[in-house]
Amino acid sequence: MTLIIPFIEPPSCSAVGYDPIALAESMRKIVERDGRRRYYRFRGGKWYGGIATADCVGCNLRCIFCWSNVPRDNPSMGWKFYSPEEVYSNLRRIAERRRYRLLRISGNEPTICWDHLIRVLELVEEDGRFNFILETNGIIIGRDRSKAEDLSRFSRVHVRVSLKGTCEEEFSLLTGAKPEAFELQLMALRNLADYNVPAHPAAMLSFSSRENIKKLIERLKEIDEGYAAEFEEEYVFLYPHVKERLRKAGVVPITAYEPDKVPDELV
Ligand code: SF4
Repeated sequence: MTLIIPFIEPPSCSAVGYDPIALAESMRKIVERDGRRRYYRFRGGKWYGGIATADCVGCNLRCIFCWSNVPRDNPSMGWKFYSPEEVYSNLRRIAERRRYRLLRISGNEPTICWDHLIRVLELVEEDGRFNFILETNGIIIGRDRSKAEDLSRFSRVHVRVSLKGTCEEEFSLLTGAKPEAFELQLMALRNLADYNVPAHPAAMLSFSSRENIKKLIERLKEIDEGYAAEFEEEYVFLYPHVKERLRKAGVVPITAYEPDKVPDELV
């Protein structure tokens, strides 16, 4: 049987880039149904010292270094829908079996199906035995302050906002989105700080000059001194499909790692 994999183009593609807010909404319509969301995998893993992970389908960015581009670019391929209760139950089972204290939704972007995510977080809170790392590109939280307010009612959530580069130009080069959307990533950190939601920034630095990194840290300090101190570095892992996409885009990383040679401090 031949499997036909449709590629979903971001809407509004143009010389100035697509709008990640519009893309989030068009993705949501594909990956969410009656409060359930499409996922492609549930797994344990070594990150954060051990974490149970639900890998969701659908993202509102198109990073050229993304390791999870098959579900991202093929959101309607037949991935199964899961209710928040099923997601939580799978995460809990993995965590109990492996004695983890941490849970997360990863793979693509958790926040594009907001109500589904909030229900999973409610289940984490009700159980009370686990903490949840919300890994996000922050665009949705930056666009709408009420999202940070929603998160502020949970005591077991820590948000990791993954910045795509250090500035508007790098963001646009790496994601293909309109440059000004980088500000939404920073705005997410501001909104989270305003509502006292535990959070820290990470940033993809594989393509950044030292000067740009310094400037980003100054911008983070202006939002919250703590963000500059807790700033986490991210680098490209050179999976074969990532290498190929970088080659096609003609973008050469300054710093990158082979997947089997990732330094311990990045795990
Ligand atoms: S935000 Fe994450 S999941 Fe989305 S394209 Fe970028 S790297 Fe991939």
